[in-house]
Amino acid sequence: MNITVFLGAPGSGKGTQAKQLSESFGFTHLSTGDMLRAAIKQKLPVGLKAKSYMDQGNLVPDSVMIEVLEEALAPLKDTAKVILDGFPRTVPQAEALDKNQKTRVNRAINFQVPEKILISRLTGRRTCPNCGESYHLVFIPPIKADTCDKCATKLIQRTDDSEDVVQRRLDVFKTQNQGLLDYFSGQNKLMTLDADKPVTNIQSEILRVLER
Ligand SMILES: [Zn+2]
Repeated sequence: MNITVFLGAPGSGKGTQAKQLSESFGFTHLSTGDMLRAAIKQKLPVGLKAKSYMDQGNLVPDSVMIEVLEEALAPLKDTAKVILDGFPRTVPQAEALDKNQKTRVNRAINFQVPEKILISRLTGRRTCPNCGESYHLVFIPPIKADTCDKCATKLIQRTDDSEDVVQRRLDVFKTQNQGLLDYFSGQNKLMTLDADKPVTNIQSEILRVLER
């Protein structure tokens, strides 16, 4: 199995790339959230174990997450090209993957986007408190500033999207991610991608790396 880890901040576009590569180029995209949901839905023992942590508002421990991943990899062929998105999140998780022959990581791609741009992407969301329609100041702007196209209500910004909350999320991400960057670069498995470019340019760069 050929396993590539996508590393990148929230808003870096790695999820979008992973999704497109799986739809158009035969990659298997495994995101933490999807794997957990699938394991729970299929009522796998490990899914129920994970659910018991989540129901109590706790993080799923590394050992359980690794089992969830093994279940997700089990039905795949040896020739499968896998993209891991959102896992590993920490160095102990990366080490745990490497300890197992079946889950050993082949390479990691770091989606690099300047922090200023991440902040503008992540704080740009606006929602209509009346009809629930959502907008984005950069990507899906309303026709009239701060006003819902559908019902003309004044748009609001959710607390989760406010600049200080976003900044805190990015700070936590940076601290954890630096460890992973050091880990994979120490193994000569890290490739850094300038991800502040049009989606199609990024895609062809990734394909070049993955087909090497
Ligand atoms: Zn509205």
